[in-house]
Amino acid sequence: MESLEDLLGVQMLDTRIDQIRHQKKTLPQRQEVIDQTAELGRATAATEECAARLKALRRSQKEAEDHASILEDKATEVNGVLYDGSVSSHKELESLQQEHQQLKQHQGQYEDQALEFMELAEPVEAELELLHVGAQTLTERIADLEAQITVALAELDVQLDEQVRERESAQSGIPADLLGLYEGLRTQQGGIAVARLVGARCEGCHLEIPSGELDAIRKAPADQPVTCPECTRLLVR
Ligand SMILES: [Zn+2]
Repeated sequence: MESLEDLLGVQMLDTRIDQIRHQKKTLPQRQEVIDQTAELGRATAATEECAARLKALRRSQKEAEDHASILEDKATEVNGVLYDGSVSSHKELESLQQEHQQLKQHQGQYEDQALEFMELAEPVEAELELLHVGAQTLTERIADLEAQITVALAELDVQLDEQVRERESAQSGIPADLLGLYEGLRTQQGGIAVARLVGARCEGCHLEIPSGELDAIRKAPADQPVTCPECTRLLVR
């Protein structure tokens, strides 16, 4: 039966079309985009956490500097009183000197503190810089993968259009009822609906057809579609 030979050609094209559609859905770059995006999410969270730590250290440093500055102003004020001649009592002068000394001491303590916070912030700043670079690299990688996906999809679409057009012309001579039967079987049989009969073996399920049934298949009129008794696929005799 000639139509069945043609149907084998249609099936070849349908298989190719299925493969291209599967390729479109399972481009390796798609999984990579998912993985890299998850990685970027983790990098972003780490960046935010690090930035918050740095901000806290900078705030503490600023607070200590502000304290030191206030104390310095006070010390300058006390120093002014000490030397402007307004105070002559020895006791009072001594107390002012003591106050000045204490203020300078406190100022020094806050300045040391500010310096400590600054030193603590330095490695955190470096860490943040690294995290920024890492996130930037991931963002670029994802954009690159997405560009690759676009190109790959366009190429596959060209192939797909070609195969679909070929399939259209390949099916033109096949009777509609046979095509209907083929389509139904293809859905049931995982994409392969027609198989060649080689000797006693069906190339669809690779099983030997029992001799009685084989006999009936061979004797069937040439224009009658026969199916494999094992897998129900259409057989090309
Ligand atoms: Zn079979």
